[in-house]
Amino acid sequence: MELFDVYPLYNVEPQKAYDCTVVDKNGIEYLDLYGGHAVISIGHSHPHYVKNLKEQVEKIGFYSNAVQNSLQSKLAKKLGELSNYNDYQLFLCNSGAEANENALKLASFKTNKSRVIAFHNGFHGRTSAAVAATDNLKINSPLNAQQNVTFLPLNQIELVKTELEKEDVCAIIIEPIQGVGGLDEGTTEFFVALEKLCREFKAILILDEVQSGFGRSGEFFAHQYHGIKPDIISIAKGMGNGFPVGGIIIAPHIKPSYGMLGTTFGGNHLACVATLSVLEVLETENLISNAKLTGDYFLSEAIKLPGVQKVKGRGLMLGLEFDFEVSELRKKLIYDHHIFTGGAMNKKLLRILPPLTIGKKEIDKFINALQSVLTEEKVDL
Ligand code: PLP
Repeated sequence: MELFDVYPLYNVEPQKAYDCTVVDKNGIEYLDLYGGHAVISIGHSHPHYVKNLKEQVEKIGFYSNAVQNSLQSKLAKKLGELSNYNDYQLFLCNSGAEANENALKLASFKTNKSRVIAFHNGFHGRTSAAVAATDNLKINSPLNAQQNVTFLPLNQIELVKTELEKEDVCAIIIEPIQGVGGLDEGTTEFFVALEKLCREFKAILILDEVQSGFGRSGEFFAHQYHGIKPDIISIAKGMGNGFPVGGIIIAPHIKPSYGMLGTTFGGNHLACVATLSVLEVLETENLISNAKLTGDYFLSEAIKLPGVQKVKGRGLMLGLEFDFEVSELRKKLIYDHHIFTGGAMNKKLLRILPPLTIGKKEIDKFINALQSVLTEEKVDL
């Protein structure tokens, strides 16, 4: 059987990894400034994480949600404490798209309405409903046409209000910092007004923190920079440091009932242990403040580079905008300098999403490599 060929691949095969380093099958070491798309939060194969997962798999890896699993409550408690959402509720699933599907479903149950407001260049995953917020990313599910989604530009609150006044909107879904779309973000004024309007028109405010959450932005959640409290927060990616796990964090006013949501794999023992281990390491190693400090250092250095038009993002969710498309630059960084970086829908944006353990030394290595590609080598990019 052949693989269904949907991914253009770089000619590199990682075989092992530690912290911010990935080692390929030829023993070549790469600096990982991509984290497998913002997934590696506490560093590859962190010893605490590996030890806990090994111990758990030897006991029990999975049983269904029809029986008790105290690891889920332990995880909910820890997550509530670290994120400052103690009074919220946790539903566990397996990925970001699934988290958003469940968030939209809950919003519809709660409000008895069905239309969704999303934003241009937003990305919420590739499933029938959750993907809907991807208007000009042509990777939508075929079912997308059936979804009842209105796309609006960021920061234009009057347009949001006009839609809400039609009284058929169940949810507004928004990323605090756009990931795949290219690191644009709403202003604090916009987020505060969204929160207020959602309350006024009884719509559910969903903050998609799948990429920006779990400390990546320098706060536990990026929306916490704006002082708002959404009704639902979706989480995944960095949550499991590579173990597939997702979830939604749900405000107390949304009440559960049996059968309302469900999943086979969500909240399994291994996923809980992976996520608990991530939270423990984030806390003991102060990785959220490291994300902020190292991110600030990156911003201050990167803006000095030749050809950089703009440095975007917060913490370790960063992007460098050039006046040329970055695909060749990314190839040079991988093949000549052994550094993984990310791209975006905006082809002129180089994205940096490293493990939150990264320090100045690694940032300097990247800045020097980029400097060299951009100037000394005088390549025609
Ligand atoms: N939401 C956001 C903000 C994302 O960046 C992504 C993935 O890139 C998703 C949702 C979908 O997550 P997953 O690929 O785990 O389904």
